[in-house]
Amino acid sequence: MEQMHIAHSEALYDRAKELMPGGVNSPVRAFQSVGGTPRFIQRAKDQYLYDEDGNVYIDYIGSWGPMILGHNPDIVLEAVRNQLENGLSYGAATALEVEMAELIHQIVPCVEMMRMVNSGTEAVMSAVRAARGFTGRDKIVKFEGCYHGHADAMLVKAGSGVMTAGIPDSSGVPKGCTADTLSAVYNDLDSVEQLFQQYPEEIACVIVEPVAANMGVVVPEKGFLQGIRQICDQYGALLILDEVITGFRLQLDGAVGHFGVTPDLVTYGKIIGGGMPVGAYGGRREIMQLVAPLGSVYQAGTLSGNPVAMRAGLTQLRYLQAHPEVYHQVGFLSHRLRSGLEDIIRRHHGNCTVNGIGSLSCLYFTPEPVRNYTDAKKADTARFREYFHFMLDEGNYFGPSQFEAIFVSNAHTLREIDKTLGDADAFFSAHSGN
Ligand code: PMP
Repeated sequence: MEQMHIAHSEALYDRAKELMPGGVNSPVRAFQSVGGTPRFIQRAKDQYLYDEDGNVYIDYIGSWGPMILGHNPDIVLEAVRNQLENGLSYGAATALEVEMAELIHQIVPCVEMMRMVNSGTEAVMSAVRAARGFTGRDKIVKFEGCYHGHADAMLVKAGSGVMTAGIPDSSGVPKGCTADTLSAVYNDLDSVEQLFQQYPEEIACVIVEPVAANMGVVVPEKGFLQGIRQICDQYGALLILDEVITGFRLQLDGAVGHFGVTPDLVTYGKIIGGGMPVGAYGGRREIMQLVAPLGSVYQAGTLSGNPVAMRAGLTQLRYLQAHPEVYHQVGFLSHRLRSGLEDIIRRHHGNCTVNGIGSLSCLYFTPEPVRNYTDAKKADTARFREYFHFMLDEGNYFGPSQFEAIFVSNAHTLREIDKTLGDADAFFSAHSGN
């Protein structure tokens, strides 16, 4: 294999490290768990990323979710260009925000009212505040290995088994901020029930990633989400589905539609901005009516509902609504990727497990089934690291961590999937598990 030329990325990384922690503006980009030099991306189009050294990669990150149509689809580009003529931000109400809210409500009717914010972190932080305001309760339940952004209350150390008092997972988070965050085990309803038995009248909400996509990809077992719904109803707590990854990706109406579970509140993120910075939270009218200026739950944002972001997001969402075949195609390609990887692993005794659903997939370097965080942590991250760099050098850009999802877009074709499988085959034939 010819060595990839990355001198420009290396030089930029050196400069970046002087001025930004780890040389980046979000930790996983620093390749901290796989080592090596992060590639500095100059541009992206369709299914490809181009770095500062002119290397081309098949992109399996898709900006961590929003690029369902691939990068810079012409329709979104044109819509954004048109909006640029009209201004970047007004700090005042726009028709675009009304259209966005109407579209989301039309697609996901249980989102009766909503509020736009600027990131998934903000969406979750605000939804939890609304849930606490509505119920008058303080405690919240999250699941080990689920990520809900970096708000203080969400940065709780994932322990083994059920934990009764959350310990901050980051310095700078006062113990008081996580003291009311309880952790349960994904795919384990007993662990949820146990927490409710312990605090029957103190839990405001359960927040869950309907498909856990921040510990690799862990699919909810049959009845898991419905079971959480029932427990919440029994104890008067709210259910928040964090659809930052799954919303409008799993299928048009996301996990709400796919699993047929109706949450009280939903959080969305980057996907509704089509690549621009956006988030949103919404749900039952009586809860959302508590949000300022109508009610006592305060939440605001200067750039919220930004017109450029709304225009980009609306264009992509409308396209997805009009083209259901996109979901069949990304599902078909991802299925081909997963079954191809499974076949390679079988042939080479690769000791790996493939998880996935729709356009989300993960190759775990553990032979055991992965159904929760404890299982995911059994993965051999040193082997993943070798695999990651081998694949990167061959021009396949995966999330630089064992615990990130593989995202396939509608711009990918069988040609790219088969090339990636060919490279994976070469890796496993050289690094077999035996
Ligand atoms: N929730 C989930 C499920 C996420 O995956 C993420 C980040 N990918 C967030 C919340 C936080 O979103 P953001 O990075 O936009 O703050």
